[in-house]
Amino acid sequence: MTRYHARWVVPVSAPPIRDATVVEHEGKIVYVGPRAGAPPGPDHELGEAILLPGLINAHTHLELTLFRGLLDAVPFREWIARLQGAKAAVMTRDRFFDAARLGIVEGLRAGITTYADTCDSGVALDAMRQLGVRGIMYQEVFCPWPDAARVRDAAADLRAKLAALEPLETDLVRLGISPHAPYTVSDPLFALAARAGRPLAVHIAESDAESRLVRDGTGPFADALLARGIPVAPRARSPIALLRALGVLDAHPLLIHAVNVDATDIEAIAASHASVVHCPISNAKLGHGIAPVAELMAAGITVALGSDSMASNDRMDLLEESRAAALAQRARRTCPGALSGRDALTLATLGGARALGLESRVGSLEAGKDADLAAFSLPPGFGGGDPETALVFALGGSPARLVTVKGVPRVIDARLLVGDDALLRRGHETAALLAAHLRGDVSTLDPLPPPPPPPLPPPPPPLAQA
Ligand SMILES: [Zn+2]
Repeated sequence: MTRYHARWVVPVSAPPIRDATVVEHEGKIVYVGPRAGAPPGPDHELGEAILLPGLINAHTHLELTLFRGLLDAVPFREWIARLQGAKAAVMTRDRFFDAARLGIVEGLRAGITTYADTCDSGVALDAMRQLGVRGIMYQEVFCPWPDAARVRDAAADLRAKLAALEPLETDLVRLGISPHAPYTVSDPLFALAARAGRPLAVHIAESDAESRLVRDGTGPFADALLARGIPVAPRARSPIALLRALGVLDAHPLLIHAVNVDATDIEAIAASHASVVHCPISNAKLGHGIAPVAELMAAGITVALGSDSMASNDRMDLLEESRAAALAQRARRTCPGALSGRDALTLATLGGARALGLESRVGSLEAGKDADLAAFSLPPGFGGGDPETALVFALGGSPARLVTVKGVPRVIDARLLVGDDALLRRGHETAALLAAHLRGDVSTLDPLPPPPPPPLPPPPPPLAQA
């Protein structure tokens, strides 16, 4: 048992409590309330800090953590193509695994205890397990061809990957599937994925290019598919309408992005009880726009927050993400009440838990829930202000003082208890290779020793004496 005392405790599901205590016992929260009423036990003093539920990052690509600082200001279709090219040229399973662990290390420093990760290489499940965090890894599947044989092959490949990963599932980490997006997944494969009976996540309604492909069968994604000999035709009035028609919405998926949605789409999402994960910084950085979060929430839709990949953010910090979400909605609606600080904090905690079906275990500080905790020092000069608003608007970028997952400390006194220097060094080396590849200069930074020179030819026989 540990009693965590802090100047403020922010349960999220209830108003903040001053001079309060959260008591953990065998991984569970057993008390949240005034310090004076806490049951006896060993003390952990956090002092001038805010203690809140561990943050929930509902959309990551942990395997892409080493793409930070690359591919800036590139059109979306080209951005994806160059990203895939660099992945294929440079990344190995070991490098993806390092990247995923470094992503979790970064997230833990920022108080993130739960990760919903879409993953191509399949490394994220083991990375989350090894570093002792909570999460769902959605195994990605791609197949833009609609013909039955190729779809069957893609589905068989997916089943094999899931079967290999299933033994790694634990109480904390689970598997789902992610049919990637309408420009990489054909309609028959979407329909198959919807019937798989697994948690589902799909990138949807992210860009204008995607909407043009689905609605009109035109645009940069249509050109790219046609160039590979893949037939293209209008598929539905919108990306959300496409998912509805294929039965994907009925599987209650996690809808990643939902930027380009109209009133009819919002109605369809609400009716299906699907959830949305909002990625405001990624959407802004790639020039996709601002999702209508205020309207989605008004329709009763569960909304979570995600950082997206470090190729399109380039920071994993959910408090900063909540600030961006609130500011973007207020700017878009020209209204300071469009998304309150309190609501933005809910997106990063309880909203994420609900979107991932984990609300009975995490997302708020309540007796009976798992002890996933994060604490941050109060901002300088913080007097009698509102701690929820301070978290959202003043504490982005701050290192977490304490992080626990199911009661087990992962960060104590802002000191990370997982990861090592060798991991960081290998990450730097791989990031340098990616940068070199994207500059078209692969040779100079190849870490492998150069091939040995060819053996010298044998000396010529002495000239025959005349
Ligand atoms: Zn993504």
